[in-house]
Amino acid sequence: TDPAIIRNFCIIAHIDHGKSTLADRMLQLTGVVQQRDMKAQYLDRMDIERERGITIKSQAVRIPWEVDGTAYCLNMIDTPGHVDFTYEVSRSLAACEGAILLVDAAQGIEAQTLANLYLAMENNLTIIPVLNKIDLPAAQPEKYALELANLIGGKPEDVLQVSGKTGMGVEALLDQIVRELPPPVGDANGPARAMIFDSVYDTYRGVVTYVRVIDGSLSPREKIQMMSTRATHELLEIGVSSPEPTPSKGLGVGEVGYLITGVKDVRQSKVGDTVTTFNKPATESLGGYQDAKPMVFSGLYPMDGTDYPVLRDALEKLMLNDAALIYEPETSAALGFGFRVGFLGLLHLEITRERLEREHNLDLISTAPNVEYQVTLEDKKVIHVTNPSEYPSGKIAEVREPMVAATILAPNEFVGAIMELCQSRRGILGGMDYLSEDRVEIRYRLPLAEIVFDFFDILKSKTRGYGSLDWKADGDQVADLVKVDILLQGEQVDAFSAITHRDKAYAYGVMMTGKLRELIPRQQFEVPIQAAIGARIIARESIRAIRKDVLAKCYGGDISRKRKLLEKQKEGKKRMKMVGRVEVPQEAFIAALTTG
Ligand code: GDP
Ligand code: MG
Repeated sequence: TDPAIIRNFCIIAHIDHGKSTLADRMLQLTGVVQQRDMKAQYLDRMDIERERGITIKSQAVRIPWEVDGTAYCLNMIDTPGHVDFTYEVSRSLAACEGAILLVDAAQGIEAQTLANLYLAMENNLTIIPVLNKIDLPAAQPEKYALELANLIGGKPEDVLQVSGKTGMGVEALLDQIVRELPPPVGDANGPARAMIFDSVYDTYRGVVTYVRVIDGSLSPREKIQMMSTRATHELLEIGVSSPEPTPSKGLGVGEVGYLITGVKDVRQSKVGDTVTTFNKPATESLGGYQDAKPMVFSGLYPMDGTDYPVLRDALEKLMLNDAALIYEPETSAALGFGFRVGFLGLLHLEITRERLEREHNLDLISTAPNVEYQVTLEDKKVIHVTNPSEYPSGKIAEVREPMVAATILAPNEFVGAIMELCQSRRGILGGMDYLSEDRVEIRYRLPLAEIVFDFFDILKSKTRGYGSLDWKADGDQVADLVKVDILLQGEQVDAFSAITHRDKAYAYGVMMTGKLRELIPRQQFEVPIQAAIGARIIARESIRAIRKDVLAKCYGGDISRKRKLLEKQKEGKKRMKMVGRVEVPQEAFIAALTTG
């Protein structure tokens, strides 16, 4: 295909501003997907994506569109909208010349609108600002067109207005894409360089790798090479999605398509890597490649210990499709055999857990999420701690914790509440800007550990739902941290240990001991519950003794009833975990670990 008739674009938006709906409408209007095959969010293929209405895996589709008698070939690259997947977004953007910046006309600019816009600008993309959902009675197109124009420069009347729902304005938008976006440029005769912007595992075909060709070309049966690892593969199939995979004779400059090599593991086909040919390899990769870095760690344990092998196989399978997922076996005195798993963020954790439970019929316990601490011992040795049980006792010279640069957008009446929240989470104010007279952007540097649990929920409730948040990793800092242990009858229960800031250790101890007192049933003897930092007890509770004799209720008499009761009690015991002499019901672990 002649690059002059190609336009590569993506749609960027804050979550729920209507990106998937607009993409669907474009596919339908251009006849790429027939009306009868149309189901909502055609491009969101995973069940969980559809149910939660989020886009996790980006996809690319070829769309034909005619302007002034010329047939153009548009490639639409769908990007994930959530902050956990920023790296995937940035790679998808790098595959495009332009981006549609989509803003809900009833909501205005939000945190991820900005974050995505900045990523697009870093990639030198041409931006087409668009207001969506103008069919809504609550839409305020004039107000938000002005906001958008102020943000990116230009005139408010140049901001397009569309409705992905009704299709209004979508054809004009397609025309605009052809007119405004530059065609791709590249060296057609040079060595091949194609950037991987997505790779997904398909049960039948193995790994399907999505690429954008920058220079040269790729053809079927050719031997290709991944530039980061030098691994070579044979190109079994090459093609374009329109939107079903359609084999082609090759991909040239500016084209977007997929490759199949028979590889079974997405980690051999990494997002951001450069593909070249083995016979005429490029010398320089396209750059920008980085390994996905897990930020949040949690222990995953099967509720039923005999499910351990099922969980292990399930994780192995999931990893074929998720290069960002890492895990290693772990054991807990309280929870048994399980895995320590690293995630990009909390949403990634939730989605992974949901997929494991749903697709493999598992019931899982996940322990409280942790960030990775870098602990320097007095002998200069550095260890990376992702689990409180690995936290060294004594002999610590320094602990560093990961930091994030957070951007919060909200109406200005909430500024006070937001600053109070960030301050209570050890945040340092970085700056504040007014996007319009009643909306501000507030920037804070915060410890990652302070935002991974409940920060977003609290922000939402303090701003009556109007606040939005985006964050990215921003180095680390020295922190005054301690490990708080929880002891039952003097026995430490590893699953309840936590690494907290020294100022918050007491609050954690009181909260956890109080919670356990409610959750653990009375035993035949008194059970002290203590929270401790090292040997120092910082909080205590106790569960009074009770003599619980189930047979007492039977007044002699009916022997079969007695037997039934005894059996029932035995069954109940199976779901108990013994901590020393104390019986702790499985539910107590779950309740203590899940509710924040
Ligand atoms: P995404 O998260 O950006 O992909 O957003 P979705 O496409 O999933 O849309 C989020 C919600 O907004 C869904 O309930 C859509 O039905 C709704 N929506 C999307 N576009 C429009 C529109 O143009 N008008 C109206 N009224 N609703 C829309
Ligand atoms: Mg979507």
